[in-house]
Amino acid sequence: MTHPIVPITVAFGDGIGPEIMEATLKVLDAAGAKIAPEAIEIGEKVYLSGQTNGIQASSWESLRRTKVFLKAPITTPQGGGYKSLNVSMRKALGLYANIRPCISYAPFVKTKHPIMDLVIVRENEEDLYAGIEHRQTEDVYQCLKLITRPGCERIVRYAFEYAKQQNRKRVTCFVKDNIMKLTDGLFHQIFNDIAAEYPDIQHDSMIVDIGAARIADTPEDFDVLVMPNLYGDIISDIAAQIAGSVGMAGSANIGDQCAMFEAIHGSAPDISGKNIANPSALLHGAIQMLVHIGQNDIAEKIHHAWLATLEQGFHTADIYEEGRSKVLLGTAEFANAVIANLGQSPKQLKAPSYEGSKPLKLPVVGYKKPCEKELVGIDIFLQWQDGIPKTLGDKLVTHGTSELELKLITNRGVKVWPDGFPETYCVDHWRCRFMSPTMQLSFDEILNVQSRLHEAGFDVVKTENLYNFNGQPGYAAVHG
Ligand code: NAD
Repeated sequence: MTHPIVPITVAFGDGIGPEIMEATLKVLDAAGAKIAPEAIEIGEKVYLSGQTNGIQASSWESLRRTKVFLKAPITTPQGGGYKSLNVSMRKALGLYANIRPCISYAPFVKTKHPIMDLVIVRENEEDLYAGIEHRQTEDVYQCLKLITRPGCERIVRYAFEYAKQQNRKRVTCFVKDNIMKLTDGLFHQIFNDIAAEYPDIQHDSMIVDIGAARIADTPEDFDVLVMPNLYGDIISDIAAQIAGSVGMAGSANIGDQCAMFEAIHGSAPDISGKNIANPSALLHGAIQMLVHIGQNDIAEKIHHAWLATLEQGFHTADIYEEGRSKVLLGTAEFANAVIANLGQSPKQLKAPSYEGSKPLKLPVVGYKKPCEKELVGIDIFLQWQDGIPKTLGDKLVTHGTSELELKLITNRGVKVWPDGFPETYCVDHWRCRFMSPTMQLSFDEILNVQSRLHEAGFDVVKTENLYNFNGQPGYAAVHG
């Protein structure tokens, strides 16, 4: 099949990045991929030149024009106000779905899980990765977890559409909605709603902690998994590692307009410059990229050649094992072995077919009809040292009004007033809930209570308005 040449943006990254990118591009070239790579500089050098997001403004031009990015891993300097480039890139380009297949290759690669073949569909833009963090008091720091309805709808639908296209049988959702009832609860609810539209695909859900344990123990029981950002980040590394090596799992970051393909691992500075890194993970990212740009036949040819290479026992150091492997190869030599196998198919391992695979086009998620929203109270967070809850409660209660009464005080989410336990350990951060007895609260009163507290010498560090949506509380109940 003849393909038009597709411009793609590439970044060679840091650490082992340049070695594995060179190996990957060499394989793509030898396989006849019709791509025109344009290199941009990202990562450590850019960070250290003073650009705290790790990318120069001019590089965005290439990315936004080609809309396809093959990216080697980069090193994120620790501390110093540097922003994660991966996170910025995913958000700026709207790459909401992160697809991470994790497959074992027994008996050719050592693994405790010989029949593992699962795909993690990770939400890629929201959750604790919004990067909204604050220090609120001497002792308390906060990271905001944002889960949105459109974000959940898009990722969950992506997971089901992916399962349908790839002929997979089941989609499992991981959440922690026994604790985070509103945020993870929304994810779970939307999962159930969308699952009902796909009666031919089985669905189930698990609390993420037992789900993670089950993946580590019996990954062969899973098929497609969908989950919020943080769980997906952690669990896909576990899944890749137990399949054989993090050096073998690739990842696609998909948006409505742009897509980025990479290895799931980092820049591995401990082995960089030694020609020993496994280029397979980035090669798998590149295979996903070829499918994305419609060069499915080339993707398949490379994938088959790669499997044949594994079967022949040509292995890099991370998967090499006496007795199982035949030849220990460096990064460049492994790429040459794959090239020598182009046109071959694996004899034992399952040879994937990319026929019919194409980028998924999902419906645009629109705004919903607005709910009836009522202001019913306010949580006022105070910094207050030397705190005995009763003393604080007795002082604060006098600042309530008939429109807004102090109902309770919590410390780290646990109710400490009224009727708290003396055993509860308290820090300098107090959430004071004022509620309207009539549920008809004016915004002026919300402002007035803060002014009164400020004038009385309280240190108001943050507030959250409490709303009912269509009569249902839009805030979590309190422990204790
Ligand atoms: P890492 O994934 O780079 O390395 C973890 C371990 O796996 C190391 O022992 C490494 O040698 C090994 N390893 C990784 N890739 C390998 C490969 N292809 N072949 C053989 N062995 C391989 O994780 P880390 O050490 O925690 O992070 C190093 C740097 O990478 C950090 O700066 C981190 O921020 C960054 N990072 C970048 C990305 C990305 O660009 N997408 C992802 C994760 C981490």
